Amino acid sequence: MTRNAELFERACRTIPGGVNSPVRAFRSVGGTPPFIRRGAGPYIWDAEGTQYIDYVGSWGPAILGHAHPDVIRAVQAAAADGLSFGAPTEAEVELAEMLAQRLPSIEQVRLVSSGTEATMSAIRLARGFTGRAKIVKFEGCYHGHADSLLVKAGSGLLTFGNPTSAGVPPEFAAHTLVLDYNDIAGVEAAFKQYGDEIACVIVEPVAGNMNLVQPVPGFLQTLRDQCTRYGAVLIFDEVMTGFRVGPQGVQGRTGIVPDLTTLAKVIGGGMPIGAFGGRRDIMAHIAPLGPVYQAGTLSGNPVAVAAGIATLRLLDEPGFYERLEAQTRKLVEGLRNAAARAGVPFTADHVGGMFGLYFRDSVPTSLAEVSTSDTQAFNQFFHAALARGVNFAPSAFEAGFVSIAHDDDVIERTIAIAGEAFAELKR
Ligand SMILES: *Cc1c(COP(=O)(O)O)cnc(C)c1O
Repeated sequence: MTRNAELFERACRTIPGGVNSPVRAFRSVGGTPPFIRRGAGPYIWDAEGTQYIDYVGSWGPAILGHAHPDVIRAVQAAAADGLSFGAPTEAEVELAEMLAQRLPSIEQVRLVSSGTEATMSAIRLARGFTGRAKIVKFEGCYHGHADSLLVKAGSGLLTFGNPTSAGVPPEFAAHTLVLDYNDIAGVEAAFKQYGDEIACVIVEPVAGNMNLVQPVPGFLQTLRDQCTRYGAVLIFDEVMTGFRVGPQGVQGRTGIVPDLTTLAKVIGGGMPIGAFGGRRDIMAHIAPLGPVYQAGTLSGNPVAVAAGIATLRLLDEPGFYERLEAQTRKLVEGLRNAAARAGVPFTADHVGGMFGLYFRDSVPTSLAEVSTSDTQAFNQFFHAALARGVNFAPSAFEAGFVSIAHDDDVIERTIAIAGEAFAELKR
């Protein structure tokens, strides 16, 4: 038995499914996940010493590549001064200021410890602020694992949702209206019927949890207009896209300003952190200023904050995002060409430093379209690439991530390996 397989067997004895987050278990692609020992730049190495070019990047945070020396130094220095105090620190103020300076919509911001906490808190805040119960989300968008967000569309148009997880009472899902991503008419119909009862709309302004799906022209503007008209709070969940698609997230790319924004992933540089922020008049409803309760023993953790500050500073380098986007474009174009040469129905898309691979003929615009991808072809491709040292996300329904450490040589080697993997599909 290989060392990875041994470790997985051992993990499964004590950890449910052998993992601490389900997609890591390789259930959708099959096989045994490599156990990772270390990373540096664009590479990770597993327990057997095998090197991989990594396009998971810890599911988004590793925008600088793994173990960037400046970030590691900042973490070591912060750790040496104590891991947590449960009291205010200057560094957390600095990170809050950095977020507010960079994102046009953020006047005030609170730090939490994960993306799930950020979205859960933002929704409670929107409900507390508006005094309304109903929320709108979109099929295929993931906002963490809070009860009211693990909901799929009910049967029929404009019915409230059903839980997607056992353990969520249907009553908890009953306030969540689930619409199709990019369905402008659906949004307008929902507001026409329920507008005065809707506390908020939460959306991934570029969706990255059903593979990569971009908003169609007018979609985000419709959300903005309808929320403004009916007094609902527009929440951009930029946990994935924040500092990933550009220096100001999707809001910077589109000029559409949400009322609240949720962040995590890149802003912690690989440490556990999250944040939610936005309009001052809304944020003033949070305890201790207002009646919406929200708290966290480790919120604003000094070590996580140090990693976040060091990461954001490096993103300020002139040309950072131009270079990141150029590398991602090279990858995506190279993969498309390689698939075409092999005669495999495939396309790919990217926004900033995130990308989608689709085993279908055209770029999808909704979960329904993503779901028609050839998942069997993806799974074969995934394993063929992994066996040759390229680590893509282990599911046809996840986005991929390029770091600034993925230089031309790394991208070219990836495309060559992908070419071999595509060719193998034909057999
Ligand atoms: C990852 C993610 C979350 C959840 O963040 P966690 O830190 O895993 O809790 C929420 N929203 C989006 C858009 C995400 O990509």
